[in-house]
Amino acid sequence: MATKGTVLDYDAVVVGAGAAGIAATGALHAAGLKVICVEAADRIGGRAHTDTAIFGVPFDMGAHWLHNEHVNALKAPGLALGLDLYPAPENGVTHGLPDPAILWDDVDTLYDAIKQAAQDDAETERATGRPTDRSLADLFVDKGPWSFTAAMMFALSIGRDLPDTSLRDMATWEGGGDWFCREGFGHLVARTAEGLPFRLSTPVTDIEALPRGVRVKTRSGEITARAVIVTASVGVLAEDVIRFDPPLEADRRAAFERVTMGDYNHAALLFRPGVVPVQPDTWLTYQMQPGATGVALGGGFLCNISGTNLTTFETSGSFSRALQAAGPEAAIDHALETLSGIFGSAIKRDFVKGHATAWRQEPYVRGSYAGAMPGGHSQRKVLGRAHAERVHFAGEASHVGQQCSVSGAHLEGLRAARDVMAQLGRA
Ligand SMILES: Cc1cc2nc3c(=O)[nH]c(=O)nc-3n(C[C@H](O)[C@H](O)[C@H](O)COP(=O)(O)OP(=O)(O)OC[C@H]3O[C@@H](n4cnc5c(N)ncnc54)[C@H](O)[C@@H]3O)c2cc1C
Repeated sequence: MATKGTVLDYDAVVVGAGAAGIAATGALHAAGLKVICVEAADRIGGRAHTDTAIFGVPFDMGAHWLHNEHVNALKAPGLALGLDLYPAPENGVTHGLPDPAILWDDVDTLYDAIKQAAQDDAETERATGRPTDRSLADLFVDKGPWSFTAAMMFALSIGRDLPDTSLRDMATWEGGGDWFCREGFGHLVARTAEGLPFRLSTPVTDIEALPRGVRVKTRSGEITARAVIVTASVGVLAEDVIRFDPPLEADRRAAFERVTMGDYNHAALLFRPGVVPVQPDTWLTYQMQPGATGVALGGGFLCNISGTNLTTFETSGSFSRALQAAGPEAAIDHALETLSGIFGSAIKRDFVKGHATAWRQEPYVRGSYAGAMPGGHSQRKVLGRAHAERVHFAGEASHVGQQCSVSGAHLEGLRAARDVMAQLGRA
């Protein structure tokens, strides 16, 4: 055990080289601290990863939208790097509706209702002291054939079914427009990591608090440091992939039950040029109906991404989980059949190849991003608290306002880096 006077290897260790870990490592490195970022995978980026090998064009296997562009923390770095960033066009097409505004008006009305209901609930909670949060399903009113599809636009973004989606969590979402990065959002995140110290293919198994530091055990040796920032997902932490000594507190473990990993995946389809007859980056929807258990059995398409011949089918919640379990071919077939139903079966002749993601099956991620169960929104703060003084946490799950996003993860990484610098007297 390290005692006073023991020389520790580093000022700080960062566990995980996703958006949060890269931001934390960058901030600590820039402040002149001796820092190392250890990553289980053989690449950086985590859930922000652009592949170019599968299709020969950028394919974001995880994050693709730069959400909340007015406050998105990666937008300015991306522009400064000279990447091709541009606003997501407002060119939605809704199959079966000549005027997509009919659907999007429903979406806007529902969003207003969500924010109003969350505000009313918060006031009632303040007045009565009783918890009031509800699920998105509680607010759902079937007003016509497109109501369910409108509600699914929210459930889709949060990666969950309506009954599992907290109104309050939804209402705190920052909102605003989206941007895209033509080279891929994962590419952008990776570019911000250039020159930083990483150790890849190094899974962390144990983190032990020492009197004045931490010991981080990995599959290839151990590292000591004055502090650690853990950026592994809630899915990884809840399933004890990393053992902590002392063990994680009871209230953090309780938070893992209330802020849980959802499911969101892309089934990507590459066609010959000009086959999908819509503008680049068109968001294509169609009427969705609840299946027997009340969940949607469908998704949305992002067509001709950045002017390429790649179209992705986006699924969420238990439908996405079922497709992952059925295997990639099932997801690709479903996407192709659905798109053929919209544009005609001739498009199948010009289908080149597909690829489906399965983020729940990634051992160091275990889902898409962390959403709050009804009543769970306040638990995000618990997830961002330090443990045993020198074990800090950061990631998309602990941000409020840009939760579930790359930008939120980045901002949480910066916040944890500031906490470490203050602790080490380097603020
Ligand atoms: C399909 C999909 C689509 C998405 N779409 C969007 C989008 O359009 N826009 C958006 O903003 N966000 C989107 N997101 C969410 C966004 O990708 C995440 O919120 C963000 O990337 C999370 O960053 P993070 O640093 O918190 O976690 P991660 O990216 O998960 O990084 C944590 C890192 O820790 C590593 N790790 C875990 N355990 C260990 C261990 N024991 N030892 C060492 N390393 C470990 C992991 O390998 C990982 O690299 C999407 C996510 C998915 C899955």
